[in-house]
Amino acid sequence: MTASLAIPRGLDDLHPADVLRWANDQFGLANLVVTASFEDAVLVHVAATAVPGIDIVLLDTQYLFAETEWFAEELRTRLDLNLRVVHPLAEVQPDNLWQTDIEACCHVRKVEPLARAIAGKQAWVTGVRRADGPTRANAPVAVYDIGRGLVKINPLATYSDDDMALYTQLHDLPIHPLIDKGYASIGCWPCTRPVAPGEDKRAGRWAGAAKTECGLHG
Ligand code: SF4
Repeated sequence: MTASLAIPRGLDDLHPADVLRWANDQFGLANLVVTASFEDAVLVHVAATAVPGIDIVLLDTQYLFAETEWFAEELRTRLDLNLRVVHPLAEVQPDNLWQTDIEACCHVRKVEPLARAIAGKQAWVTGVRRADGPTRANAPVAVYDIGRGLVKINPLATYSDDDMALYTQLHDLPIHPLIDKGYASIGCWPCTRPVAPGEDKRAGRWAGAAKTECGLHG
């Protein structure tokens, strides 16, 4: 199916909503899935306005900030999102794994649930941006993900922090309550801290460990 898809040049120049419309034309609504961290409202607003009813997934790691759960529900109601919350397998119960083995913890709480969330889909839409930090500096707008067997689409790849702020302002979107408290990138509460001015946005994720990605994007 998608292995023969030619990803057109020029996607970098499209508005994120037009990237989503291209994806919808290529794959169809039933074959698209968006995963959102809900640290901001931009990705889900772009997706739900460009492709109404698009499948939007929140991975509930059991360690989300209460503010993130509130924010996701707020956006679900406000933007009429088709939101699907995907949990770890039943045998995964809250434990102390994040203290002893963050790779294993991310695997059972993020990587495995993601695999279930995107199973059967032809294209996976994410909020990855080049401005997130050095590990994402070359993120493409669309690329065939050989390992997962689908097309990975990052419609916000070219968006700067200023672009995100402007989009939020133009569309009168709410802001995650932890942003004002210095959190520039928001994941699970045990592995996220605020960042200092001038630090990379993702410096507050797994601070003190070599880890920079949870296994979903790197
Ligand atoms: S980010 Fe931390 S708490 Fe969340 S799944 Fe990974 S190791 Fe566990």
